[in-house]
Amino acid sequence: MEKVVIIGSGCAGWTAALYTARANLRPIVFTGKQPGGLLTTTSIVENYPGFPEGVDGYELMTRMQKQAERFGARSSFGIVEKVDLSKRPVHLTVDGEPVEAETVIIATGASHRHLGVPGEDLLETKGVTYCATCDGALPMFRNQTLVVVGGGDSACEEALYLTRFGAAVHLIHRRDHLRASKIMSDRALSNPKIKPIWDSVVTEVLDPKQYKVTGVKLKNLKTGVESILDCAGVFVAIGHSPSTEIFKGQIDMDANGYIVPKKGTMTSVPGVFVAGDCADHIYRQAITAAGTGCAAAIDAERFLTAESL
Ligand code: NAP
Repeated sequence: MEKVVIIGSGCAGWTAALYTARANLRPIVFTGKQPGGLLTTTSIVENYPGFPEGVDGYELMTRMQKQAERFGARSSFGIVEKVDLSKRPVHLTVDGEPVEAETVIIATGASHRHLGVPGEDLLETKGVTYCATCDGALPMFRNQTLVVVGGGDSACEEALYLTRFGAAVHLIHRRDHLRASKIMSDRALSNPKIKPIWDSVVTEVLDPKQYKVTGVKLKNLKTGVESILDCAGVFVAIGHSPSTEIFKGQIDMDANGYIVPKKGTMTSVPGVFVAGDCADHIYRQAITAAGTGCAAAIDAERFLTAESL
């Protein structure tokens, strides 16, 4: 029987692990498919306090893991496939094996949203990607025309990163101004290699018949004019969806699948707590995820103490 199971190994998960480990609860972290979470796919994180020069996303997550492990947190590369929150202790199935837990901290984060247009799924890994840091340096993108879709901080970051490799980077956004923070917008729009295409959406990725990206079909939402832009890569950066599928129907969520905490970080299920991006569609920052990870750990510890009285 585990006292604390933490599902997810991003900023929220590792911070929850640090605090529960220091409370002598020997938490176990199931890392999921992407150990370290989405931050490991970013390059330099400039807005995490304490790192005036910025810190590599992968390094930040490795440091968080080491810090939690120093106090006794354990980690497993397991994937939690199923949960049964209807009784206590909570029953989980991890890589086919049963696990029981007195408390669970859900820190499953979010995954990249897809465009949902023809050609996108067929050409994933053949020129369509959701992570410039992971794939931008591949030979297929070098000195080519590249496309980034989106208008937020992620899209700006991806576009800026890709200027190191591509000949030109077209930033395609459905509005006539970016949603990104001022500093990121300014950096992106002042880069001579980045060319914004406003008020436009990608309606199709070409060309599955050639088994590679050769271009995108665009539609201008104001004029209705359609066009084709030749390119070798499409980097989709249009936000995220919460990774909460396995909890559906068992826990209170909003219409978009974000878990809704009831009291502090406790969910509608007693003993089950939530932290990070799977419950946050507003702030979605590394530091806010870490903050709620800390809060969930304190709430779980107090819950266990109250139960033992
Ligand atoms: P985001 O802020 O939600 O932006 C998503 C963008 O994609 C928006 O511009 C949105 O358009 C567009 N979009 C959404 N669905 C679309 C669709 N189906 N077709 C075309 N465009 C679509 O997401 P994000 O950029 O991933 O950022 C998430 C959070 O992480 C934010 O809080 C951000 O500040 C943070 N972040 C920070 C940094 C940094 O500070 N360096 C880097 C990355 C992320 P609309 O504008 O029309 O809604």
